[in-house]
Order: sequence, then C-alpha cells, then structure tokens
Amino acid sequence: MFRGPGTGRNLTLLQRTLATHASLAEKDCMSITPPYSALIQKLGRVRKILNRPLTLAEKILYSHLVDPEKSLSGGRRIRGEANLQLNPERVAMQDASAQMALLQFMSAGLTQCAVPTSIHCDHLIQAAEGADKDLKRSIVTNQEVFDFLQSAAEKYGIEFWRPGSGIIHQIVLENYAAPGMLINELMLGTDSHTPNAGGLGMLAIGVGGADAVDAMTGTPWELKAPLVVGIHLTGKLNNWATPKDLILHLAGKLTVRGGTGRILEYFGPGVASQSCTGLATIANMGAEVGATTSTFPYTPNMKAYLNATRRAPVAHAADKAAAQGFLSSDEGAEYDEIIEINLSDLEPTINGPFTPDLSTPVSQFASFVKSQGWKDEFSAGLIGSCTNSSYEDMTSVADLARQAKAVGLTTKVPFLCTPGSEQIRATMERDKVTSTLEDVGAVVLANACGPCIGQWKRDIKEEENAIMSSFNRNFKSRNDGNPLTMNFLASPTIVTAMSFSGKLSFNPMTDSLTLPSGEPFKFTAPSGQDLPSAGFSTGDASYYPEPMPKPQPTVQVVINPDSTRLQLLKPFSSHFGPDTENSRGMELPPLRILLRVRGKCTTDHISAAGPWLKYKGHLTNISENLLITAVNDEGGAVNQAFDHERSTSGTIPEIAKSFKARRQPWALIVDENYGEGSAREHAALQPRFYGCAMIIARSFARIHETNLKKQGILPLWFADKADYSLIGSGDVVETIGLADALEGSPTASIKIRVTKLNGEIFEISTKHTLSEDQLNWLRAGSALNFIRARMNGLD
Ligand code: SF4
Repeated sequence: MFRGPGTGRNLTLLQRTLATHASLAEKDCMSITPPYSALIQKLGRVRKILNRPLTLAEKILYSHLVDPEKSLSGGRRIRGEANLQLNPERVAMQDASAQMALLQFMSAGLTQCAVPTSIHCDHLIQAAEGADKDLKRSIVTNQEVFDFLQSAAEKYGIEFWRPGSGIIHQIVLENYAAPGMLINELMLGTDSHTPNAGGLGMLAIGVGGADAVDAMTGTPWELKAPLVVGIHLTGKLNNWATPKDLILHLAGKLTVRGGTGRILEYFGPGVASQSCTGLATIANMGAEVGATTSTFPYTPNMKAYLNATRRAPVAHAADKAAAQGFLSSDEGAEYDEIIEINLSDLEPTINGPFTPDLSTPVSQFASFVKSQGWKDEFSAGLIGSCTNSSYEDMTSVADLARQAKAVGLTTKVPFLCTPGSEQIRATMERDKVTSTLEDVGAVVLANACGPCIGQWKRDIKEEENAIMSSFNRNFKSRNDGNPLTMNFLASPTIVTAMSFSGKLSFNPMTDSLTLPSGEPFKFTAPSGQDLPSAGFSTGDASYYPEPMPKPQPTVQVVINPDSTRLQLLKPFSSHFGPDTENSRGMELPPLRILLRVRGKCTTDHISAAGPWLKYKGHLTNISENLLITAVNDEGGAVNQAFDHERSTSGTIPEIAKSFKARRQPWALIVDENYGEGSAREHAALQPRFYGCAMIIARSFARIHETNLKKQGILPLWFADKADYSLIGSGDVVETIGLADALEGSPTASIKIRVTKLNGEIFEISTKHTLSEDQLNWLRAGSALNFIRARMNGLD
C-alpha cells in the first residue's frame, strides 16, 4: 500500500533519502553525466561518413546512434529521410502513461531497466482547495495506481518521485538534464512537453509507451531523422517581454503544424542573454508548433543553473565537452530553414483561445477581444505549470504583487499558483515569494499538473468564460472540462498584472488601475531573479529518491486482482509454430475482415481518451473503446460492425469480442494515414488483444505502423490503393509469401488471397516495411516476446 512519509514503504524511502540529504552539498552525478568521451568519439565516426559541418541537433542525435555506419552511410540524404536507431540515456515517465509502459516492461521478464528510469506522480493530483488537502485527497483516490507504480519502481530499480514531489519536466530539468544528453520521456498523448529539458542544451523527445519500453529493455529506439530549423536570435528582450513571449510569437508564425518532423535549434547572440529556465520555457512550448524538440548551444547561464542545482561535476564535464566543440553547431552548418527573430522587437503576446497559435500582441488584444464580441472580463488567472514555474517567473510575479500590495490592491479574480517542484515551492516559501502572493489573494496548489491537465475541480456553470494562464496548451475543455472556457496563454507577469484588473482589455504596459482613493496606479515593469541568492532550498527531503536504486527482485508488484484500473498483461501468443492451431505453418491463419474503416482514423479514433484514461493500466477495460468513433465504410455508420456468420450487427468492440470468444482471428481494411496522431500504444495493444492479426492500409502513419509491428500485428500496404474497396466485412483473407519473409527473405513480396462472402476468390498484391528484426517480433508474437525469448536463450 502506498503510504505518506513516515510509514511503511515510505519510511524506508525517507530513511534512504535523509541519509542522502545529510551530505547534500552536491548531487551524486554518476548516472546523470553524459558519457562525453564516448559520444565525441562516436561523433568522429559520424564526421568521417558525412564529411560536412553539423548542426548541434545533429551532433547530439548522431552521437547516440547504435551504428553510425549503418544509419548514415551510402551518400543519401539523412535529414527528413533516414531512419535512425538510437540509444537514449534515460527514460522519464509520468504516472498516467507509466502504468501501461510498466505492465509491458514486466511482461518482457527483465529484472531491471537497461537505462536509468524515473516515474513522476504529477498528472493524477486534483486541484480544488489548495496544496495540502488536494494532495491528501488525490493520494487516496489514486492509491492503487501509486501503490503499483511505487512497488514496480522498487522491484526494477526505478527512481520514484512520489505525489507532491513535482511536475515531471521540472524535476527532469532540476535533476537529470545535461547538455548534449538524449532522453526520452513518456507522455500522455495530450501532453508532449518533454522538450522542456532542451533548456539545458540537450535533446529531450516525447514518446509513447512502446518507445519508452524499447529504451527500458535496451532495444534501439527508432526515429526518422528530423529536419533542423535554425532560429537566429538577435537583440535583447526589454520592458515586459519574456522568453514566453518569444515562443508565443513564434507559435503565431509557425502555426501548430509548422514544426512537425523538425528540431528547432536556436543560435545567435540572443541565446546567451536568456536564463536557463527561460530557455526551458521556449523549448517546452516548441511542442505547440509540433516540433520534435528544441535545443540551444551551451551557455554560461546553463552552467550557473547546473551549479545552483548542485550538479557542478556535470557543469565541469560539459565545459570540457564544449571546449571540444560538442555543445554548439559547427561553423558553416546548414539548416533546412532559418527564421530570424530580433528580441528587441518583441512585445508581450497573448495566444488563444482554443489554439496556441492564435497570437495577438498585448497592444492589440483589447481591440481583438472587442472585435470578437467577447465579454471584457475573465474569471481566473493561473500561473505556474511545467512551462512557467521557475524561480525567475515566481520572483517576477512577486515583484508585481509587492507593488500591488503597497497600494492596497488584491486580485479581482481567483488567482491560482502551481509551483513546478518541491524545490521551487520550498525556495518560494523561504524567500517569502509565497506569502507575498498570498497577501494579494493567491491560492497555492500542490506541486503537480493540476489545472493544466484538466484536474481542476471548478464550480462553475458550463457557460462561456475566459481564463488567463501561463500554461502551454489551451485546447477546448483541457483545463476545467468546460468546452466554453476560453484559455488565453500569456507570460506569468502579464497574467498576474491582468488578474488585478479582471479585464481582458487591460494592458499593464500602458493602462492604469483605479485605487479605492480614486488615484490611478500603474505597474512598473517587473523584474525577477534567475537564481536565488541563498541557493535553492531542497524542501522536504523525503520527496527525493535515491539515485539509481538497486532493484529488489523479491518485492511483489502491487496489483489488486479485482482492480478496474490495473491488470497484468498476458503475453500475446504467436500465430506460428507447432504449438498453435494454425494449420498454415508460417503463413497467418485464415482471417475474417472485421470492418473496412473509412477515411481519417487517428489513434484517438482507435483508442479514445477522455473518461477512458482511467483505464490506461487495464487492457480489458480500456479495450471497450476500440474504434468507437471510426466510420464503417460499408453503410457509413460510426461504431458499427457486422458479423456475417451470425447475421448480426453490433458495436465494433462487441463484434471484435465475439470473434475473440470463438477464436476467430481477424483483420482490418483501413484508409490513408491510418494511426496518425499521438503515439498511443493502446491503439495497437487493443486490436491485438481482441484477436487482430493483420491490417491492410492505403497508408500508415509511421509511428503507429511500428507500434503494430511491436504488438505482433502484420501491417501491409495495398500495392494498388483501389483494391481497398474490393475487400469488405466477412470476407476471408490469407497471406501468401509471408512464410518466405519470415524464413530468411525479408524483402519477399506478400500477396493476399481474398475469399468473398459469395465464394468468389482473387488475389491482390501488397507491400510491407518489415525489417529483419521486426519479422522476428512478428514470428514471436510481439517484440516483448522476442526480447524475453532472447534473454532466456530460446531464440
Ligand atoms: S504541467 Fe501541464 S504541460 Fe506540464 S506536464 Fe503537467 S500537464 Fe503536461
């Protein structure tokens, strides 16, 4: 059972961590210092192959290649085309997504993770009354999930950051990030702000659970080499403009898709003048333009941040790596595109509502609001989150609060503040930032995601209203579940100043507030401090896990067999081999078509989110949402499938379940770009769970196609896209040629023999993208089966 500090399992944790903190002058940096010598040596091999100047992003990526010669040789174009096989140095997972990743990891049968891994309990904490009560209540509500995560962490040697310790990205920046590092974080589909750690000059890339499991099991992680966009920063931010305004401005320029398949690499004199945490804010919101990640060359401010967070040995090693040219781009390196931004031209910017790329400079915001006919008011101001909870952010807003308090003002609307970590919370408290904010009406919430991820228990009617926040995302319903709430994104200082007015039209740079005396009052531009003069306070030592804890194989992972939220995964069985019912040898058994899906079918159509998220750790329960928003091309209905053998119809999960019950393996026919959207592994696990063995598509989204292969589903592409319409529900399909591919000819062509319901038989041609490794996964029944067999010496 998960317990608070001072009892049971947590007492052990507390004792361990107190011991660590007794001599806490510096962190143990063994596991958090990148192996610079090895990376630089590998980069030498890369240079021999590519023989051209490299961008910083390329240096970091390519120095983490498993085999540079295999990935980069041949004189072909790399960026935008080559598939890279990489070895990330670390994995970080948040509590919601970690559940299925750990269940999968457990089914691989390993005794510990191949790379240092951490779990962060941040997404499941509800915001309602304030930090202490919210934390206690949320621990009780999610007890079984936290118990599971903590026990699995102990068993496999994973660092466990318990509820209240902070938000994953802030913890990673404060504790694990290092210049030149490559790290995977496992994110919810709705949350891809891993790149926050790019503020320390590294590549941090958000991935789905299947990719995180790859890194945890030591399987090379595959990424299509991104294009690299150079963002040249000149000038200097002035007055009220902050790093947040830079990224809000850029989001307006690039739109939500402008960074897709690209790394944003900032360079130029404007980089060094930003604080490390300011760069993290910019990198964090690169996700809003769809960028793979963002990064910056190593700066003196990064070094200062590493020292302030007790990682001097990392700074020292980074200095040496920088002196060898590893932590910045080469002279003459070419970018796929260059964007020029003069920081001196930027003014505070407000983005939204409902999309982060609708960007309006604050000087034009009042007239924008008027032109839309919105009420000139907002109902809450929210600051903090992983995007903007640095010491600099908090001291800047405290400066405004102090100015307001001096003239007797308090905020006009509820004003909520979310510290990003225990370190930030404790330092704010010690330096009287918290009391200064509370003096003007702020409510300080738990160190967790809270309202940013929709964990905001808000008592308002479902009617149109506006909120101002320093968060990063503002899609409909994200914060309070109300689709009519308009979330406008701005810097913490703009949100704070506007909260004293309660009006959307208030421009704190030019407008005055009226004091009770009738006198006008105008804020002076706020100033903050990037690092605390007295150093960071670590706060409650029991929140900090021991670095690289030893796995404890005797620990039982806690899963209640009656749980509706967690369920152990049973390995999927292979279709091939003497122990199966398959009489077709190394070809798939005859498969019945469940349905032909029409048009767009994203991972959200395949495995819906919303209320289903609570079942992320329970494959049986979450599978009830399989394809429930997909359109059946035969009839055009949503969530309808036909069972021709039984002459019935039902929802898609109902018919899939009935196929599974009578041991009838099945296949899907799907349209273009099947599985686009977030890299949600459930979208591959669920069809496999119900008995899907093959999907034939007009085209696949690449990540989802790989996820299908990992779960042992054969993805095939129509050689002639017109064949899509020839196959329908109830038809039987059989592979011809798969045996050749599985038995040593990976490029063998695979045909499909189709037997229509009326008895007509014909063949169609298909293409596939299975590599030799992926064919091994298919033969074993899943990638995890293959790993387990290899470990047991059975392969
Ligand atoms: S604070 Fe918001 S953006 Fe950051 S990790 Fe939590 S939910 Fe994601």
